[in-house]
Amino acid sequence: MMAEAWRLTAHEAHERLRARELSSVELTRSVLERIEAVEPKVNAYITRTPELALEQAREADARFASGTATPLTGIPVAVKDLIVTKGVRTTAGSRILENFIPPYDSHVYEQLRRAGAVMVGKANMDEFAMGSSTEHSAYGVSHNPWNLDLVPGGSSGGSAAAVAAGEALVSLGSDTGGSIRQPASLTGMVGFDPTYGRVSRFGIVAFGSSLDQVGPIGRDVEDVATMLDCISGHDPRDSTSNPEPLPDLRAYLGQDVRGMKIGVPREYFIAGMEPGVKDRIDEALKLFEELGCEVDTSLSLPSTEHALAVYYIIAPSEASANLARYDGVKYGFSDRTGASMWENMEQTRAGGFGNEVKRRIMLGTYALSAGYYDAYYLKAQKVRTVINREFQAAFEKYDVIVTPTSPTVAFPIGAKVDDPFAMYLNDVYTLPASVAGLPGLSLPCGLSEGLPVGLQIIGNFFDEGRILRAAYAFESALGWSNRLPDLA
Ligand code: GLN
Repeated sequence: MMAEAWRLTAHEAHERLRARELSSVELTRSVLERIEAVEPKVNAYITRTPELALEQAREADARFASGTATPLTGIPVAVKDLIVTKGVRTTAGSRILENFIPPYDSHVYEQLRRAGAVMVGKANMDEFAMGSSTEHSAYGVSHNPWNLDLVPGGSSGGSAAAVAAGEALVSLGSDTGGSIRQPASLTGMVGFDPTYGRVSRFGIVAFGSSLDQVGPIGRDVEDVATMLDCISGHDPRDSTSNPEPLPDLRAYLGQDVRGMKIGVPREYFIAGMEPGVKDRIDEALKLFEELGCEVDTSLSLPSTEHALAVYYIIAPSEASANLARYDGVKYGFSDRTGASMWENMEQTRAGGFGNEVKRRIMLGTYALSAGYYDAYYLKAQKVRTVINREFQAAFEKYDVIVTPTSPTVAFPIGAKVDDPFAMYLNDVYTLPASVAGLPGLSLPCGLSEGLPVGLQIIGNFFDEGRILRAAYAFESALGWSNRLPDLA
């Protein structure tokens, strides 16, 4: 058995599995041992599933023997804990679901299983995906493998930290306003938030239903392409799942980018961006030019600054409706010490939800209440349309839009947790594409003060292929992929 198999990318592991130089059981054991060794420091998982993983690994080895393996067969994967998995506890990072054992599988987990992937655990996250640091998890904060005193980002911080720390080869996260891209950026990984509707939300614990989308985190562009290919596709169980056929994404990898038109919106270069981040982005733009792309920094998307306000009306409004189901009656945590049904419900929600979730429910309930609906919710939906139109006008001229992913590198645990607005500002660069429903990928473009900086590539609806083409060319030219921090 090869030493430190957990260091491989999924495609490297696949080559070895196919050549029968490595078995999935050996690979999975290597990852499980790595989890044992570093998990006390990282806390990437809420629930670990080692027995299940070894069982799935044995099945995977049988598929290699019988010739029915796929690129993900036998690959250890971390699954964000809002992705419903039959028989495996799914908490969404909340106390209110601490004992919820789902009786069914989500579409994305079904797809992973169909491909023969191996699930090693359910990844930590901010409660109901509300946050940018995993500090809002009811199961403790995850630590950034690059520096354990720092956050890994969020809300999919556990999914990103697991891949960066060698506790999984790839993972699934979810993105409502930046929750795949920002943690990928802060941990030096590649994260892809696909077009809204590309991936079924069936079996995903809902936060903001018009924004939520599942997507992959991996150590290089090829791995996220493989993962996206596996999980996407039409699913009649989600009425917003798009029937648009998925092209062969891997065909875009290695395609020439000469002549590609890249727009760089000036509104993204704001005060508050760290100088080290700006330097890496400037260098990245030069590299795209060297690759033969036409980089235009005169693009203006004037409504960019309103995306944050729009998002923090729409997402909490949808959350307040979605979270009404947690009443202590149907499933999950239940406090029955009250004198009446109403008291029980009140106590269940008071004890089951954390502060950030309560804040969002209050914001959303207020924005949707009679008399305020037009002033807030309806207005936000109108501005959302304006943001969308500006992007559409830009895509008449440009193939992709390139921006930083986050204004800062990873920040210290505790630095922003008591200041909700400072926390919300983490997502200024990821929220506009989310509000518009556009696909966006983050990939590393270097280090600032020893910490990874992420570059965001935004594409038009269902144009994931072009994003991957640009990302793969950039990654190859920079020579940065699968760089794992030294956790010692
Ligand atoms: N940080 C943003 C929020 O707290 C986005 C989270 C997400 O994408 N799930 O809402």
